[in-house]
Amino acid sequence: MKTISNIDFQNKKVLIRVDFNVPLNEEFVVTDNTRIKAAIPTIQKVIQSGGSVILMSHLGRPKSGPEDKFSLRHIVSELEILLEKKVHFINDCISDEGIEKTQNLQNGEVALLENLRFYEEETQGNVEFAERLSKHGDIYINDAFGTAHRAHASTAIIAQFFPDSKYFGLLLENEIKNIDALLKNPKSPTLAIIGGAKVSSKISIIQNLMDIVDEIIIGGGMAYTFIKASGGETGNSLVENDHIETAQKVMALAKEKGVQLHLPIDTKIADKFSNDAQTQTCAIDSIPSGWMGLDIGDKTLESFEKIIVNAQTILWNGPMGVFEMESFKTGTESIANALVKATEKGAFTLVGGGDSVAAINKLNLSDKVSYVSTGGGAMLEYIEGKELPGIKAIRQ
Ligand code: AMP
Repeated sequence: MKTISNIDFQNKKVLIRVDFNVPLNEEFVVTDNTRIKAAIPTIQKVIQSGGSVILMSHLGRPKSGPEDKFSLRHIVSELEILLEKKVHFINDCISDEGIEKTQNLQNGEVALLENLRFYEEETQGNVEFAERLSKHGDIYINDAFGTAHRAHASTAIIAQFFPDSKYFGLLLENEIKNIDALLKNPKSPTLAIIGGAKVSSKISIIQNLMDIVDEIIIGGGMAYTFIKASGGETGNSLVENDHIETAQKVMALAKEKGVQLHLPIDTKIADKFSNDAQTQTCAIDSIPSGWMGLDIGDKTLESFEKIIVNAQTILWNGPMGVFEMESFKTGTESIANALVKATEKGAFTLVGGGDSVAAINKLNLSDKVSYVSTGGGAMLEYIEGKELPGIKAIRQ
């Protein structure tokens, strides 16, 4: 691994790709600074060893050209608070003026470039654009795990302009180490808890996990496609009818590979998709017509908890129900608490994927599990066994 632990940054301009794609409220204030915090150790390391730092990131999905609501200017004050340092904002990431400014940075100083995606060349992986960006630094560090699965200009293409001076940042190094702890020689029993809305978006990860884990828990919206595939009545629950066969194949594959697949046995049902719906609990395979399952039921919770607390290596991706609504958050919260219990008992617990991370952060439990990944899609693709362009570009 090309890590920065032993690199001397004295007098060097260090261009770091970070993931500052953070949520902002209507007043453009950062509402969750997890990703900014995660990048601080690498920035501090460069500063402390005598270099200057040029940060680049994307924010949101601007359509074409600059849009004020997606300006990284909005996150400068949050970054200054976390770094306890002034941050110079460069309002165009490839202009001559911007490059001149970063060339004049003094050791210890930090600059942040405007949103890379104000140029469509970023997501297109344009080589000339990547070369312009490369003018900002003598050394390139990729510390953005969240976009490591994209072959964008700043995450992969740019690395060719730093053949002997490209490195993984501390966050990226940590992400790789922790996910490898799950993939390579995990302690048994190994368990994956997969939830979320759809089977279709998680199918390849489930298939790949069959070769890694002993047991898989399936919850959330995707469970109902499995229940329907097994002949159950799912009422108005979320079911992907064109993936019934996929679910059947997954169940057959689990049998073939000797992986225990656990589906919910009961469910909290609602008469409409709303927090103030009428609710009741019923067996997962007998949901009355007109009703939909929006969370796992108490019996399921009890059985899932037992499995979780017994496991030694656990991956959790995706909520167990519509946890954004008060009435249907219990299942997801209880899974988070069971993970904490398992961690206290010595299990290695890895949480990844937007919504399970949001849930664990909301409960203030992120310090009580072994590792919370900052990359949703990137983590899933890494587990699926794909070589991520952002990682490959540094290793090559
Ligand atoms: P994903 O992005 O695929 O991990 O899905 C997360 C989303 O799945 C969240 O917004 C949840 O509200 C939603 N979800 C979880 N369980 C259900 C369910 N039973 N019915 C409908 N949506 C669900």
